[in-house]
Formats: sequence, C-alpha cells, structure tokens
Amino acid sequence: MPEPLDLIVVGLGPAGTALAHQAQVRGWRVLGVDPGESWPNTYGIFRDEVPGWLEPLPTQSTSEPAVIGCLGRHRPGRGYLVLDNDELRTRLSTFPVIRACAEEVRATSVTIGARSYHAPVVVDARGVPRSGPQPVQQAYGIVVAAPLTRDTAVWMDLRQHGGCGPHPTFLYQIPVHDGILYEETILVADRAVPWQDLENSLSRRLGALAPPRSEILREERVLIPVGAPRPVLDSRGGAVAFGARAGLISPISGYSVATSLQLVEPLLDALAPLLKGGRRGTLPWHHPTVRLDRMLKDLGQKVLLDLDTDEFPLFMDALFSLSPEAQRGFLATGSPLATASGMMAVFRASDPPMRLRILGAILGRRTRRIGAPHRQDSG
Ligand SMILES: Cc1cc2nc3c(=O)[nH]c(=O)nc-3n(C[C@H](O)[C@H](O)[C@H](O)COP(=O)(O)OP(=O)(O)OC[C@H]3O[C@@H](n4cnc5c(N)ncnc54)[C@H](O)[C@@H]3O)c2cc1C
Repeated sequence: MPEPLDLIVVGLGPAGTALAHQAQVRGWRVLGVDPGESWPNTYGIFRDEVPGWLEPLPTQSTSEPAVIGCLGRHRPGRGYLVLDNDELRTRLSTFPVIRACAEEVRATSVTIGARSYHAPVVVDARGVPRSGPQPVQQAYGIVVAAPLTRDTAVWMDLRQHGGCGPHPTFLYQIPVHDGILYEETILVADRAVPWQDLENSLSRRLGALAPPRSEILREERVLIPVGAPRPVLDSRGGAVAFGARAGLISPISGYSVATSLQLVEPLLDALAPLLKGGRRGTLPWHHPTVRLDRMLKDLGQKVLLDLDTDEFPLFMDALFSLSPEAQRGFLATGSPLATASGMMAVFRASDPPMRLRILGAILGRRTRRIGAPHRQDSG
C-alpha cells in the first residue's frame, strides 16, 4: 500500500472505482475499500455520454434502441452501450484495495476492524444509503438466448397491458452478451410492489411469446431508490459522497452511471487543493445549474408518480417526439434549460386533462383517480 495516502475511496461500484482509477492516473496515492468482487447489475449508458478518458469502453452490446409509443415508433438516434462489467472493472482496478467493510468513514480517516487509515481526502461511494420510504424504480427481467420479437433493441416499449397494480409499466428490451434482456419496468412508484406482481406483468405482456422457465438463462431484479438525496450526504465535515451516495441517481430515469463517470474529473479537480492543505473547490453537483436541474427533475418525478396507465405512454410519446438534442438535454443531468424546455414541450403537447394533472402534481395535489378500477395481479 502506498504511504502516505492521498485518497481513500470507500465503495468500489462504477463510481468509486472510476474515481480511484483516475486519481491514480493523476499520480495520487490511492487506497480502495470494498468487500465485493463484482458489479452484478446490467448497466446501460448512451454512447454520447461516455467521457473521453474511458474510451474505448468495454461493452457487452451496442445498439440504437427505438422507443415504441402509443402514437408510433420513435428513433432517438442515440447509440446505447451495455457495459462489460468484468472487463471495465478489471481495467479500472489499478490501485490497491482492502476487501472489507469499512465501519467508520470520516473526512480524513476510515476504520476497518481495529485499524484506521488516514488520507487528506476520503470519498464515500457506498451506494444509496439506507433511508426511509422513498420513490423507487423497479424492474423484473429475464435473459433468453434468442429474441422473442422482431425488435432486439427497445429502450422503452410503452404499450400498456393493464399495468402492474396501479402502476404503468414499460418493457426494456436490450441485447446483452448471452442473449436479450426483457425487463418489465415501473419507471417510478411511491414504493416497491411485490416481485411476483412484476413477474406476472411481464408474462402478461409477453403473452404467447413468454418463454418456458427452462429457457430463461437468468433473471434480474432492479430496485433503485430515486428519492431526493438527504442533505447530510454532502457532508459538512464528513467524507465527500460520490455516485449514488451523493444523490446522483436521476429522479426521472433512475440512471447514475453516466453522470458519475462524467463527474470523475470535475470532482478530482475540486478535491485537488485538499492535497496541498487548501480548501476544496465547489463539488460539481453543488453548482447552481445542477441544483436547479435537480429541482426541476424532482417536479418531473412528481408528475410521473401521478400518471395512470393511459396517461403515462402519452406523456412519454410527447417527450420522445422532441428533437434528439432536446431529449438528450432533458434526460442528462445538469442542464436546467433543457429540462425546463422538455417539460414545457410535453406540457404543450398534452391534452387539457393531462395538463391539469401535470399542474396538480407540481402544486402538490395528487389527482390520480384513486379508486379507479385497476387490474390486480394475483401473484
Ligand atoms: C439491477 C440494477 C440495474 C441498474 N441499471 C442501471 C443502468 O443501466 N444505468 C444506470 O445509469 N444506472 C443503473 N442502475 C442504477 C445505479 O446507477 C446503480 O445503482 C449503480 O450501481 C450506482 O453506482 P455506484 O458506484 O454509485 O454505487 P454501487 O454500485 O451501489 O456501489 C457501492 C459499492 O459500495 C460497497 N460498499 C457498501 N458498503 C460498504 C462498506 N461499508 N465498506 C466498503 N464498501 C462498501 C458495495 O459493496 C458496492 O460495491 C441500476 C441499478 C440496479 C440495482
């Protein structure tokens, strides 16, 4: 282990690993801490979001997925990559690692068992902290070797088939290294539903195309907390949070990997003065534009939470009818103008009842037709 240390990164998911690696590239003496030895999730990222330093990015698949709405098919025209987790992780893991759980993570020290390690900079990238109930994105997916439909790459198939309980769903259908992943997804819900409900929802959607159990290569269960980050995360006097820990998960898409990778270099720039005894610069996600964008996207989440199975696909149709640049800006983190103009365009494209629904959600009045008959999954 290099001594003295410049940086300790606790939590080596994509965010922590990328940060530790790039710090080492800068010549910083880095230590990573994580008990885990793999990244189990299927990670997708748009090609235009990959930072230059990460090229060439190892991938399981590349595609240009469509969005299938109720009003037709949209072609966002963006390359989409599914990461080859093992290869990327191996490539970035160039620094020493302690395979253990950190017990105490402070501004300049980390305790593991009886021993403490010290560095002028400690970054906490331990993923989403456990906190109270909050909105989630949830999905249940299966991987099968051969495509079940003519389409092999669809980012969102928005055609509804009764939803999952009260929640609208969409199908995420994307090639992976050993086949095609079909994931029945609730974009955002107040709380998680039973997994069996999502499984049933996927079977209903696939209908006669649903494969027998014996043909399912593996399953994936996705549960992403998408609530507002707790203010404590940005740590007055504590370790600097990063990745999902710092609230970088988008409240409207559930994605964070691209944002984290893009913020690695700006974060290191902000932290560099600490190595010379100075004060750290402004953290990238504290910039007013990023904060404003987050506020707008939190409002967007409120609207999404309020949409029923009829409205959700119409709302998304309006979004994906925007120009590719407008969609990109809306989905990316940190462009409040793009987010606001995307929201305005969706509002303009909506019919009067949906406009009322949008305004009601933004003003804090839930207007979803409570008690409207929804098909219940029996489990
Ligand atoms: C199944 C699934 C699929 C997803 N797909 C996508 C996607 O396609 N695109 C996207 O952008 N986002 C996706 N997300 C959402 C989000 O981006 C991921 O949650 C992502 O893993 C967050 O990366 P991270 O590095 O910030 O945190 P994590 O990946 O959660 O990493 C945290 C690390 O901290 C370690 N750790 C925890 N406690 C300690 C401790 N005490 N001491 C040391 N180490 C500790 C853990 O072992 C873990 O390795 C997905 C989430 C899930 C669950």
